[in-house]
Amino acid sequence: MKKILVTRRLLRSNEDKLKNLYDVNLNLNDELYSQDKLIELSQGCDGILSALTDKLDEETINKLPDSVKILSNFAVGFGNIDLEAAKKRNIAVTNTPEVLTDATAEIGILLILGACRRASEGIEGARESNWKWSADYLIGKQLTGARLGILGMGRIGQKIAHVARSLGMIIHYHNRSKLSGDKEQGATYHETLESLLSVSDVLSVCCPASKETVNLINKDALEKLPKGAVVTNVARGDIVDDEALINALDRRKVYAVGLDVYKGEPNLNPGYMKHKSAFILPHLGSATKETRTAMANLAIDNLTEFFDTGGCKNKVN
Ligand code: NAP
Repeated sequence: MKKILVTRRLLRSNEDKLKNLYDVNLNLNDELYSQDKLIELSQGCDGILSALTDKLDEETINKLPDSVKILSNFAVGFGNIDLEAAKKRNIAVTNTPEVLTDATAEIGILLILGACRRASEGIEGARESNWKWSADYLIGKQLTGARLGILGMGRIGQKIAHVARSLGMIIHYHNRSKLSGDKEQGATYHETLESLLSVSDVLSVCCPASKETVNLINKDALEKLPKGAVVTNVARGDIVDDEALINALDRRKVYAVGLDVYKGEPNLNPGYMKHKSAFILPHLGSATKETRTAMANLAIDNLTEFFDTGGCKNKVN
């Protein structure tokens, strides 16, 4: 029986499934393993079922025992793993695409709504009974007719576009490559990020974190937005330069932000806290029972496919 290190707690049904298939080392206290501990616990293991909270950088990967042949990441993103380092050691890396698209797009839409319609201030006022209706109380930005710029029109971006279109938003996007007409669904393609930003009343960041996208939304990029734009990020914190975004909020260049992901999670830049117009969530993108169950099942299926065939359709390196 193959031996698997599971670095974080999963839902019980998924842990039971793993126990039936593998000799598993579960993390019953859901401890955040240090890199040293992860290396120590992986001794004698054939694979690791990892999570986005595990920093599998080059140094860590180089210290993994030779027995480890696969890192099955419990996420569609894999910015936490050095793919090249894994490849050099002949370790396969897999992810969990598609099953989390709908849940994450729901949060992407919630960020847009929450930021545009001043949900943080509204919740605070309602909870403290510190409000009264008036014609100009918490006036926000209407989505109908606003231009939504999607940076990274992949699975999640396209689903957000679909819902946003039904709310009357006009969809623009930037990818490195243009989509086919059936995937675009009438959205306008921008060959450059600068061009996309110039028409984005609301920006939705949906691209992966990579060497190319780190701090892509920086001071220069923010200057390209229309004044009073709204910036949302459902992808990864590394893509946004926090200081620049907070500064843009200070100057009211940016009207509001909607964020689910942060650099250095779970500690987010305190500069966001002083802005009532920051609608902030604690990385809830895929957090539904259906989706977390499906993600773990897929991460387990990826292990099984790899051990059975030596390959895997969800291999990313
Ligand atoms: P996907 O289908 O691979 O889509 C990614 C899109 O980004 C593609 O359209 C890609 O198009 C574009 N892209 C990649 N690199 C780019 C670059 N340098 N510049 C511009 N566009 C670029 O991925 P997905 O399933 O939609 O997931 C997207 C990301 O969401 C994940 O990587 C993950 O980090 C994040 N996510 C967050 C949560 C959460 O809990 N908040 C949950 C799930 C996923 P081109 O290749 O043509 O450029």
